[in-house]
Amino acid sequence: MTYVTIKHCSIVSKKTMNKIKKRKQRKEQFKRYCAKHMDVVREGERRRQQERRMIVLKHYSGETPRCQCCGETIYEFLTIDHIEGGGTKHRNTGGAHDIVKWLIKNNFPEGFRVLCFNCNCSRRGGECPHKRLQGAPFG
Ligand SMILES: [Zn+2]
Ligand SMILES: [Zn+2]
Repeated sequence: MTYVTIKHCSIVSKKTMNKIKKRKQRKEQFKRYCAKHMDVVREGERRRQQERRMIVLKHYSGETPRCQCCGETIYEFLTIDHIEGGGTKHRNTGGAHDIVKWLIKNNFPEGFRVLCFNCNCSRRGGECPHKRLQGAPFG
């Protein structure tokens, strides 16, 4: 009797082990699927964000978005600048961490322009160094 029970138990446990293993495998598969799926979702969101950004850049700059100070056209360098320098003021209007979305939602308000990262950053403390060089021959 004892023997049978043990045997029986061991069979059941083996089956159960298999079940647990399979369940684990399925869980892993699901995890992998989710991770892959999330990548696709993130990739799509990233592309949509880029498209939105392009729409805004084109609106404020033209068919080929460029820096209004130095003429830089490399997409990755371009930023949207508040002409009044009212970055903080703008931020206070809420939800402004994503200026691209904000501009679209507010129907492209005036007072913004496209600047490259260099020009945008360097004019934080005043004017862009390009301005100082204006009049000097290029090259
Ligand atoms: Zn520039
Ligand atoms: Zn500049």
